[in-house]
Amino acid sequence: MLRSLGLGSAAIGVGSVLSSPRLSANTAQTPSGPVRNPYIYAFHIGDLEAWSISDGFMKFGQGLDLMYPESERPAMKAALEGIYEPADFLPLYVNVLVIRSDREVMLFDAGFGISERADRGWLMEGLAEIGIQPEAVTAAFLSHAHGDHQAGFIAPDGKPMFPNAAIHTTPEEYNFWRQKEHDFSKSRRNPKAIPGMIRKAQERFEILGDRVQQTKAGSRLFGGTVTIENGFGHTPGHALYRIESAGESLFHIVDSVHHHMLMFRDPKWSIGLDHTPKLAVETRQCIFAQAAQSRTRCYGFHIPWPGIGHIAQQGSGYAWIPERQWWQCRCS
Ligand SMILES: [Zn+2]
Repeated sequence: MLRSLGLGSAAIGVGSVLSSPRLSANTAQTPSGPVRNPYIYAFHIGDLEAWSISDGFMKFGQGLDLMYPESERPAMKAALEGIYEPADFLPLYVNVLVIRSDREVMLFDAGFGISERADRGWLMEGLAEIGIQPEAVTAAFLSHAHGDHQAGFIAPDGKPMFPNAAIHTTPEEYNFWRQKEHDFSKSRRNPKAIPGMIRKAQERFEILGDRVQQTKAGSRLFGGTVTIENGFGHTPGHALYRIESAGESLFHIVDSVHHHMLMFRDPKWSIGLDHTPKLAVETRQCIFAQAAQSRTRCYGFHIPWPGIGHIAQQGSGYAWIPERQWWQCRCS
């Protein structure tokens, strides 16, 4: 209809839009591949500019076979069916939080790194799109040394991706990976995969060198803008981050949660990727109780993008309440 009205009729305006070079080029071509949906979400925490950039996603094909305790899998399946979610794979999002203050550009974990795979490695494109060059990142936070959090700190040429960034990680995390012997006796990971995971973490720490700063849980950085908190259990030194500005806050709960429903429904339901499962559950219970009681705005690394929301008490467990999305514009 528009076409028949508009073409050849610049006088009514529609025609001039339709005949613009950009639009005619777009309409003339068949898209060559799937369109990537929006993956950059801008918001604020007080006076801080913030972005949630999706670095991609993971689909764990083991589905509920990756969840514990085993005896609870039928209950988990029923819970997934109740919210129309598949049970044959677990969807995990990969969300990188970026914050800009008047002095710092901060990155909270770095995702998978640039990848040939289409489903991951989007962070650097996202940073470019919001006008942040790698050199501009001044402070980075490595919550733990798993590949989906640490690999993005290394560029494809094997050098540090963010040359001017101090990378804060807890001494417990740093020392665990750097030591010679590693106790994985409580982990449910496939034993065959563990040596490779350790080697890669060590190699990345080697490349990052003295850019890595061991910063203890409880530390307050940048005048109290970021407080590092103890999230131990998922890994030996897993860190959480409380970000505060002008009376507002965001609590980055990182990998204390992996699925957006299961771990909330029952915090004792766990993914088989935790280093110390019992401690990971205790940490999660503590975080949920505190966040629900204090109505704290939260952010999750693996929660559906953009990953901002609240934790509410529901029945004997909890629920993730995603925050309604909103726009950034020069409008009131
Ligand atoms: Zn993770």
